Amino acid sequence: MFRYHPDLLAAPVPRYTSYPTAAQFGEDVGAADMAQRLDAMPADARLSLYVHIPYCHDICWYCGCNTGAATRPRRLSAYVDALEREMALVSARLGGRGRVTHVAFGGGSPNSLPLIDWVRLNHQLLLCFDASAAAMAVELDPRRIDRAWIDAMAKVGVTRVNLGVQTFATHVQQRIGRVQPAETVAMAVGALARARIQVGFDLMYGLPGQSEADLARTLEDSIRLSPSRIALFGYAHMPRLLPRQRRIDATELPGVEQRFAMAKLGHAMLTAAGYQAIGFDHFALPDDPLAVAAATGRLRRNFQGFTEDDSDALIGMGASAISQFPDLIVQNEKNAGAYRDAVSNHRLPAARGVRRSADDQRRGALIERLLCDGRAACGDLAEPALLDRFERIGLLRREGDELMLQPGAAPYARSIAACFDAYLRPAETRFSVAV
Ligand code: SF4
Repeated sequence: MFRYHPDLLAAPVPRYTSYPTAAQFGEDVGAADMAQRLDAMPADARLSLYVHIPYCHDICWYCGCNTGAATRPRRLSAYVDALEREMALVSARLGGRGRVTHVAFGGGSPNSLPLIDWVRLNHQLLLCFDASAAAMAVELDPRRIDRAWIDAMAKVGVTRVNLGVQTFATHVQQRIGRVQPAETVAMAVGALARARIQVGFDLMYGLPGQSEADLARTLEDSIRLSPSRIALFGYAHMPRLLPRQRRIDATELPGVEQRFAMAKLGHAMLTAAGYQAIGFDHFALPDDPLAVAAATGRLRRNFQGFTEDDSDALIGMGASAISQFPDLIVQNEKNAGAYRDAVSNHRLPAARGVRRSADDQRRGALIERLLCDGRAACGDLAEPALLDRFERIGLLRREGDELMLQPGAAPYARSIAACFDAYLRPAETRFSVAV
């Protein structure tokens, strides 16, 4: 179904987990803006909380996350203390307003923390927020899951765990600095299923030394384990921005045409196995909340990717965590030391961001609907002439002010959305290739 048009994939484009993207963040936005939005939160607002744990036991060479080595217990403990303080600061500003519908722990690896500290964070979260009925998701490193973690997650009410799997091919695992036996993942999946916790996998294509056959075997093994959702990401090699990626041998990376073939293979295998394609890189079994949201027009896109979380505001806590309000996107101090200093001094740690103008909000809504639903109304936004080339080859159809992605357009969805990006410059290099 996917046809390769290299000219349409040539320009790097953002992933549009927000609009404007992080490239537009500036330091003229910060704690005062965040405080104002929290102070003005309506009593009945539905809130989503994200808690960032910027530590991992082993650092994978491909990783683009804000994370560091979890080698010093005192540093971890000081970070958890700071998170508790930030929760109290945010809660004091909210003054009891807002009901939490979703909680997500991400990173890094939340299970790089001692279990007792993670449980402590959950207690503080319940003390500070009305979160007892929230759906709770946790990203975990499958190499560090044990019985005690699963029991604790079940007791706390975790509903979904996302496992970083990436690839089952051992020779590719060695090339990306993440050796992870398939049996380890299978045991984690079995134990989570017995605890009635839904499982998602993150997989990758475009990795060094990875062939289509390697990807096919990883997909077969994944399908056998039956996670309820799978995100299949293209590896973004940006060693200039992410020095840890310099350990990856760039001469072994598949080219754009091979990457395209892998995305196509992934789509074909996963949909044939009963997964529904969600957006441009997610797949979910029909009863997974993500598939239900997509079927009912409630799919959203935020910093965690495609999500069923349709809260009114996202509050990110922890170093580098991003909060999102209709008219503001704001990011906490990235550096864990600066983050700790801010909250120790009773200051909200928001340090940079962007105020979303009315035009930003209109463009953002259009881009989000186009990526989530495959269709969107332009309204009073002028249709860029750039769209013509997508329409000419049948990837896009226009009816009145309605834009509709056509079958086979998924690999080009970000490029089509980019036509509405008022900030994107043709020579932009900080984004990854479009597929
Ligand atoms: S475990 Fe995940 S967050 Fe940690 S370094 Fe590896 S990819 Fe990054």
